[in-house]
Amino acid sequence: MKIVYHERYLEHVQHFGHPECPERLKAITGALASHGLFTDVVKPEKAVEKDILAVHTPEYISYLSEIGEGIIDMDTSSHSETYEIALLSAGGALTAGKIALEEGASIALVRPPGHHAGKDFGGGFCYINNAAVCARAMLENCKRVAIVDIDGHHGNGTQDIFYSSPEVLYISTHQLEIYPGTGHLSLIGEKEGAGYNLNIPFFSGCGDASYLAAFEEIILPVLDSFKPGLVIVSLGVDSHTLDPLTGLEVSTKGYLEMLKSLFKYKTMFLLEGGYDLDALADVFCALVSAREGRDYTIRYPDSVDSEGRGRERIDAAKKLFSNYWKL
Ligand SMILES: [Zn+2]
Repeated sequence: MKIVYHERYLEHVQHFGHPECPERLKAITGALASHGLFTDVVKPEKAVEKDILAVHTPEYISYLSEIGEGIIDMDTSSHSETYEIALLSAGGALTAGKIALEEGASIALVRPPGHHAGKDFGGGFCYINNAAVCARAMLENCKRVAIVDIDGHHGNGTQDIFYSSPEVLYISTHQLEIYPGTGHLSLIGEKEGAGYNLNIPFFSGCGDASYLAAFEEIILPVLDSFKPGLVIVSLGVDSHTLDPLTGLEVSTKGYLEMLKSLFKYKTMFLLEGGYDLDALADVFCALVSAREGRDYTIRYPDSVDSEGRGRERIDAAKKLFSNYWKL
């Protein structure tokens, strides 16, 4: 399984003690390497302006490229090298997208993350929307792209960019009551894109049983009808039971079951958030070893949600989405 990675991703530092830190990538690559799983590594190039401007406004990109030292939002700062590394992060997504289309499932281990960056805004540790840049570019090679966002936070930026686009299906599971405060069920898309923006908002305490039910009863049936040429997984590991920033309770075993169910499509796994270093390492080792048919013993297989605490939310989502999809 090809893994797209660049050592310059480690040079991006928000500030000392910030959760979105270079150690996140070091934890993943170190654990993969120690299990002999970090061998097929591809170095990306920076994304070019044409690809970035296909999803962001020229005004926002010119602001981002010129800001240098500054503040994007309370948790997101810019330094002299930030823009260049954000371009390299988007380039990583583009490279992984091409690999997924032409050769088979791929992983993009990139920083900074992207799903909170919208058409004309950044924030939430994000500058350029890597998933969106990739989706838009890959539409030149396939008719439809699905973005499945299982980060613990709602991808408000991705929703913003594709809210009226039927050729990019956006499905997000997230904890509703935390940053960025978006991702309500009723936000279903607009104009031609109505029905192509699906939010499944969970709450603190939801874990494996709720997520797996959402996959089985909503996400997989919708994907099967949509027939995506490419599935981009916005793979945040902050829905994990160990994560310090959310109250979600997905175990590594739960993550792996979700990710494995997407192997049947042309799929790329794109790192978004995830702030517990052990959880990040465990999820990516489980993913790569499952894909390669190698043995790996999951360290965190248990979720407190065995009964499906999010059942009411799933039923409400199914009811609404049935207006657009056969569920
Ligand atoms: Zn997140």
